[in-house]
Amino acid sequence: MLDERTCIFCLAPHSMSVRFDKKSKPYLRCAACSTRAFLGARGAMNGVAVLLPYAEEIVARMQTDGAYAATKLAEIDRFHEAVLAGLRVPANMQPAIASAAAIAGAERSA
Ligand SMILES: [Zn+2]
Repeated sequence: MLDERTCIFCLAPHSMSVRFDKKSKPYLRCAACSTRAFLGARGAMNGVAVLLPYAEEIVARMQTDGAYAATKLAEIDRFHEAVLAGLRVPANMQPAIASAAAIAGAERSA
């Protein structure tokens, strides 16, 4: 169970392992995507234990079933877009940021 497994974050095979910090708290570490996910409570391991075999099944099927892989890659793209949309500066905040940048530029040139 502690051997390198498929990363539940980036789906790279044989890349995620369970490690322990200096206080003996478990965390997941992926060598492929550099994610470190600390499992702060015993219950945090429940989802990892249950979902890890599914992640491995999904990756294995993606490698042999092109149509299935396409649907999963589309899901990944939609999730990426949703996350990136959350990072965008709201339209009503952009002029203020532009003004702040202009002010900072004016202060630098003065
Ligand atoms: Zn990863």
